[in-house]
This record gives sequence, C-alpha cells and structure tokens, in this order.
Amino acid sequence: MKLNLEKSLAPDAAASEGDVRAVKLALNRLGFYTPDPHVGMSDMADGRLFDSIRTFQKAQGLVPSGRMRAGRDDLTLARMNKELDAAEEASGFYRWESVGDDKVRADHAARTGQIFSWEDHPWPGEEYGCRCWAVLIEDIDEINDPPIEPVYPELIFIPFLRFKKIINVVKTFSSYTVDKSSSDLRLTGHARERAIERDISDQEIRNAISSAKKEGNVIRKFGKYKTLQDHYIGKNGVTVIIESSGKNAGQIITLYRHGG
Ligand SMILES: [Zn+2]
Repeated sequence: MKLNLEKSLAPDAAASEGDVRAVKLALNRLGFYTPDPHVGMSDMADGRLFDSIRTFQKAQGLVPSGRMRAGRDDLTLARMNKELDAAEEASGFYRWESVGDDKVRADHAARTGQIFSWEDHPWPGEEYGCRCWAVLIEDIDEINDPPIEPVYPELIFIPFLRFKKIINVVKTFSSYTVDKSSSDLRLTGHARERAIERDISDQEIRNAISSAKKEGNVIRKFGKYKTLQDHYIGKNGVTVIIESSGKNAGQIITLYRHGG
C-alpha cells in the first residue's frame, strides 16, 4: 500500500475522513494502531490515532508531534511509506478482529479470530464501512493463542508452524491456482465419500469454487497437519476445502453444505 494524504492530519485540524482511514490502516498494518475494540476501525480522527502517530514518530526518532502533512516532504509520511514497503516485502500474518456486534458482516464475523496472510485482501478495515482490524502476529508461536475454532468437526485447526515453513507454504500457495477450465476435479477419497454422502455434484463444486473466487469468499486456514487450506465459500451454499500444500496439495479434501 502507498499512503498519500489529501490534507494535513493533526489533532487541532479538521481531517479528511479518507486520510484518517488510510493512516489508521497503515498504522494498524505496522502494529502501531489498534482501535477501541467496542468501536472498531472508523473514519473518526480520535485520540488513539494521534497517540499512534506519536508512537510511530518516536520509534522513528522523529519529533512526536502527532501531526502529518500532505506531500512528499513530510518526514513522517515518507517513513511510514518506507515501513509499509518493508512490511509488504516481509508479508507475515495477522489475526482478524471485529467489534463482535450483529452489524459485523457475516463473512467478517466468520473471519474473526482467524489467522491470515497479509498477502491476501481484503484486509480488515479495508472494505467500505468495515470496522474490523488486524492484530499483528510477530512471533509465529502466538498462533496457538487464542485457539482457532474449528468450523467443521473434521478439521481441527492446531497451527504450530515454524516461521520459515509458513513462508514456504505461502509461497507454494501463491503459485497455485485452481484451473477452472479443467474438467477433472481432484478429490481425495475422503472428499469423494463426503460428496456422495452429502449429495454434492461436481458441477456444484465448480460453481462453489468459481463464485467464491469471484466474490473473494476464500478463507485461508491452517490444517492440523501443518498445511494451509483454502475454504471456498460458494454462493450456492457449498463450501469446498482445498489443501494448498503437503501431500494433498491441489486436492479437495472435504466439502459440505453451509446451510441455507
Ligand atoms: Zn469488517
């Protein structure tokens, strides 16, 4: 992400809502800003934002004024962009958080508490009106805490990957895409049994995958065997889980109807 300001951002000036959101997102990405958990991400220029700007400035050895100016000559803005570039390079992981009330959109509620890679979008707070935010995972061991709730009894998510391994797994995933034109879906024996048991046709599987990809309803989770899995939550009510690494890489490992 590249940060640009419409106008100056300061505790004593009227801020642009777009600027507020963008700086909050940037500081959240860098681990400097966490919203009030009862309010969540917003376009309001609140005290926490300016405190976070000051903390960032201090960490950068700059004067902690809490102010940022529009334009290339603003040192805080320049440093923030430099840090964002470095963060993009390093990628890494975060935990999705939300306010937890009934106004949180369903797919974001489903993501709450789950671990995601920064390589994938949307990020929390990025979509219009979204109040969600990210909690950076600095140490990969943090992934064990809090536990990730299984969404389906067959899958128990106990991620305990070492950092290097995760990076490799993510890299492997990035180069992997489901071939929509392919007529032969690859299902493990277990998945084929489930498809029969749950009466889900191959066409329904294809539709679920393509609609989930189209609408961005693909959720990445860690499987119990230290592998990454992608959950394609289809518009047709079918969820398809594809393992993206390990011995079943590229194969559908299970599928189910998610209700409706
Ligand atoms: Zn949200």
